[in-house]
Amino acid sequence: MAKRAREKFVHILYELTLAVGITLDLDHEVAAFMGWIRRFLSPRMAVLFLADEERQYMQVVAAHPPDLDVESMLPVGVDPWNWLADLGIDVDVDEHTFRYAVPISAEGEILGMICLVSSAEADKIADERKVVETGAGYFAPVLRNIWRYKTLEAQVAERTAALAKSQAMFRSVAEQSIVGISLVTPERFIYANQALADMCGYPVSHLLTSLSPLDLVHPEDRPRAEELMYKCLNAEVEDGHYTFRMLHRDGHLVYVEVFGRRIEYNGRPVVLGISIDITERVQAEEAYRALVEHSLQGLVVIQAGRVVFANPAFLEGIGRTQEEVIGCALDRLMEIVHPEDRDVLRQVLESVLTEGGRQGETVRFRFRRSDGKMRWGQALAGRITYRGKPAVQVAFLDVTRQVEARKALERYAAFLEARNVILHEVMHASRIDDLLGTAIDLIMESLDAKMGAVWISERLWRLPSAYKTVRGAPPGYEEHLAKMIESLPHEPDMLQKTILIQDISEPGQAPHPAIQQAFQDLGIRSAIVVPLFARDRRVGGLAVGSPDPRNWSREEVGLVEAIGKEIGIAVERLRLIADLEEALRAKDEMIQDVSHELRTPLTMILGYVELLQEGMMGDLTGEQAEALRIVHRNAERLRFMIDRLLLLRSLDAGQLQREQFAVKPWLREVFIRWQPQFQERDMRFHLDIAEDVTDLYADRRLLDEVLDNLLHNAVKFSPQGGTVWVRAWQEGRTLMIAVSDEGVGIPPDRLDRIFERFYQVSQGLSRRFDGMGIGLALCKKIVELHGGRIWAESEGEGKGSTFYIALPV
Ligand code: ADP
Repeated sequence: MAKRAREKFVHILYELTLAVGITLDLDHEVAAFMGWIRRFLSPRMAVLFLADEERQYMQVVAAHPPDLDVESMLPVGVDPWNWLADLGIDVDVDEHTFRYAVPISAEGEILGMICLVSSAEADKIADERKVVETGAGYFAPVLRNIWRYKTLEAQVAERTAALAKSQAMFRSVAEQSIVGISLVTPERFIYANQALADMCGYPVSHLLTSLSPLDLVHPEDRPRAEELMYKCLNAEVEDGHYTFRMLHRDGHLVYVEVFGRRIEYNGRPVVLGISIDITERVQAEEAYRALVEHSLQGLVVIQAGRVVFANPAFLEGIGRTQEEVIGCALDRLMEIVHPEDRDVLRQVLESVLTEGGRQGETVRFRFRRSDGKMRWGQALAGRITYRGKPAVQVAFLDVTRQVEARKALERYAAFLEARNVILHEVMHASRIDDLLGTAIDLIMESLDAKMGAVWISERLWRLPSAYKTVRGAPPGYEEHLAKMIESLPHEPDMLQKTILIQDISEPGQAPHPAIQQAFQDLGIRSAIVVPLFARDRRVGGLAVGSPDPRNWSREEVGLVEAIGKEIGIAVERLRLIADLEEALRAKDEMIQDVSHELRTPLTMILGYVELLQEGMMGDLTGEQAEALRIVHRNAERLRFMIDRLLLLRSLDAGQLQREQFAVKPWLREVFIRWQPQFQERDMRFHLDIAEDVTDLYADRRLLDEVLDNLLHNAVKFSPQGGTVWVRAWQEGRTLMIAVSDEGVGIPPDRLDRIFERFYQVSQGLSRRFDGMGIGLALCKKIVELHGGRIWAESEGEGKGSTFYIALPV
């Protein structure tokens, strides 16, 4: 290139540097570039294309002359001249005009293109093209920078918008949150929401301007809060989690749980804090803890076979310290439980943890306190979650007092029952030796005594012989003991009241050397001995003994004393009965003897009366005959009575003259025989015999006697005009006969007694109704000889009576 041309070239390019690349405004730079082209190259046509971002199209951004449609896009790879020609632009050239396109590229990337139809002369065209290429080379980085800047600017705008949006969101969330939210540094609040302000009682503005976060923390918790905050800020902890006490503006304490996290804010680290008011929970926990601490009920928690918690009541209950119990293996703790109760307790504790296990089941068990005493405990086990893991919680109660009270009650009830049984036996015994035997056996059983003795002294009481019953003495020793017992009453004051011996080997316990010896011989060490009294006189004694030392309980002593007292009364009663029976027997005997003696003279009397009546001794006046009739009738009655007395005495089973006979005809015969007596007293007599009654095999004469007696009484105790029924029916293998009347009736308490010999309901009545109380005794004897039963029923006095006979057939 010629020197001039080179100078021009430099000048043109210099002009370019002055015009282009001085702003970051694309339009300005494009206009400047095109301006430079126009001014220094004066082309016939110039079109500047810029590539889009994806490099798919080229867009016309400036053209000369300017009437080009700048909206049109040139797809990459399409020939620009053809494309421009298609748009109707004249791009044709001849030998005087040239056209060329110069790419605008930077860092190997096509950014655009400039198409020129030049008007330069042919020899200048190469130089011009060089200028354009150099210019494009200068323009390319300018474009590149503008684009870069634009992208950055877009990004900045986007970021700013996003930030604004997230801040707005944060604020709106934070404002509405019910948990406290704050952004803090140790020195100040950068942000605090309303919930936090409410929590501490200060307005938000006050928090942001006048308080540091640590000002809110209770002084005692401040060092830890501060430490945690710094750790959080220095990223030493990922997420801080801390519970502290906050001071409310009005002075009360607020328990706050804070979750802290380090975040970047405006380019520096701050703590984002989420604060939750847990005052209620803490208070509830405190109340719960206080409850557990002060509960009278022991509480213990067992986890993975170890004690992990025990409250004071539990520790006190078992008499162990916190150190001994916490962390202790369940197996070791179990050692204080009585071996017999361990398995069941362990089972309950284990089954609590298994699915469907026994929840809420109480067990009672014995355990040894630290003081060595055996006590009763009650455990109620349940499954709980303790520190996030399954555990067994046991509620424990020392129930020794309840158990002992119940046992005492049971023992007392047992004694009461034993006492009642014994008293019943004693009261109903009909013989002294039965009485003593039963009493001593029952007492020994209920006291679990190994030896027992009861004795009634002959010398002290007027009894046929001395009674003594000894149980549990070594063989051959009984006799010896009996003698010793009998010798005791010679000691006048010895057995005046109960003697209690808890352990004979203790000095001063034996009341008498003989007793000491006897205890030794018998192999017993403890005993209760009570005197037996009858009508204030000591008549004997009652003793029970045990081979072991024994602290006799109040109930046990009471039982023996009560039985002793009752035996005394029973002995007295039996003695009286014996006396009475003796008297009755004597009376009986006398009556029988007299009856027998009376029979002969009575036969003589009747014989002579009959002779006189028959006129064998001369004629009788009417008056005499009447007198004799009276004598005869009374003598007959006397003989009837004497015969019955004698019959009663002589009857025994061997004498029965049984025969087979039909019931119906027999009763009809009785019925007919009794008709006159009923008619005489204007009474009605009904006979009612069931069809199915079977035959009897019995002593018919004696059964006649029974029916006669019953009918006799029925008539005798009935008013004039009354009705009497005799009914007979079959009940299985038994023939039933009932004789009913509408007479005076029998008081209920006499229904049994009327069958006793010589018993009459009332003296007053007997005077009204003759008789001597022997008929029913005779009936009873006859019926019983037949293996049957007789009894009376009556609704009471004036309500009539029914006598039943049940005879086996
Ligand atoms: P007695 O010779 O006195 O009748 P019993 O042995 O036949 O002797 O009767 C004894 C007592 O039973 C009578 O005294 C009477 O009190 C009472 N008794 C017997 N039968 C009847 C009756 N059918 N109604 C009322 N009381 C009767």
